[in-house]
Amino acid sequence: MNDCIFCKIVAGEIPAKKLYEDDDVVAFWDIAPQAPVHFLVIPKKHIAGPSSVTEEDEKLIGKLIRIAGDLARENGVEDCYRVIFNNGAKAGQVVFHIHLHILGGKDKPWPI
Ligand code: 5GP
Ligand code: ZN
Repeated sequence: MNDCIFCKIVAGEIPAKKLYEDDDVVAFWDIAPQAPVHFLVIPKKHIAGPSSVTEEDEKLIGKLIRIAGDLARENGVEDCYRVIFNNGAKAGQVVFHIHLHILGGKDKPWPI
């Protein structure tokens, strides 16, 4: 997608502090962290959000969760992290390229 900021990160057109990259997935630190550890895991494929996931994407979306767990472990928060997908502007989605938030490193910092 031409105007998608996360596609531009995937393409290397704008910089990001990457934690991980393979053929399918990129993980990078959130530019405005909401927790001591806050990174995003995204597929390289442009999918607008959770409600746009199709059967074809099931394995890819599962991989985001698996990579998130590996990176949480590597960053010392394996016993305290949340994973969040926002779907839709009313739910707080700002970037319409699906991304998994990983927030960790605080003791129960979240309302739900
Ligand atoms: P959303 O609200 O769409 O679920 O989350 C988007 C997230 O992307 C926000 O936490 C925001 O701080 C992060 N973000 C937006 N633009 C950039 C960027 O250019 N680089 C990085 N690293 N994070 C970004
Ligand atoms: Zn995109």
